[in-house]
Amino acid sequence: MTRIASYLKSLLLLELAGGLWLTFKYLFRPKYTLMYPAEKTPQSPRFRGVHALRRYPNGEERCIACKLCEAVCPALAITIDSEQRADDTRRTTRYEIDLFKCIYCGFCEESCPVDSIVETHVHEYHFDKRGQNIVTKPQLLAIGDRLEAEIAERRAADAPFR
Ligand code: SF4
Ligand code: SF4
Repeated sequence: MTRIASYLKSLLLLELAGGLWLTFKYLFRPKYTLMYPAEKTPQSPRFRGVHALRRYPNGEERCIACKLCEAVCPALAITIDSEQRADDTRRTTRYEIDLFKCIYCGFCEESCPVDSIVETHVHEYHFDKRGQNIVTKPQLLAIGDRLEAEIAERRAADAPFR
């Protein structure tokens, strides 16, 4: 029955008609121009802006240098070097993201087993000099430290849908 209904829906182009009707309704409404940057549009908790590396509340960095994010990155934008510490845990000695290569797909965030690498709401940034497109580990950790409250809030808002 569902397949027949779906077939009829597709045959009669009902979804196309619905879309055209929605467009038609907006055709005669007053137009609104958003006065950016004084005004901003609402942002989804899933918005993917510049990256951050997070820490645990005790200050320990979350990243365990598993390199999953590096492996999954389709743009080869992440470079990680790691070493074993005296307490037998592994940590990164180098964690860099080339923001010129990054396509903001969010795969790194999805693949991270410890919620370390995340994408923040920050999308307004620029580079003054060649090379600033490579964001280093201290910079990523600093972004994480600065925005931790917002990152945690946005992840909590998105948690029921994951
Ligand atoms: S958002 Fe996508 S392209 Fe950018 S660093 Fe993460 S995995 Fe790579
Ligand atoms: S950020 Fe996450 S996925 Fe990437 S190396 Fe660290 S722990 Fe692994």
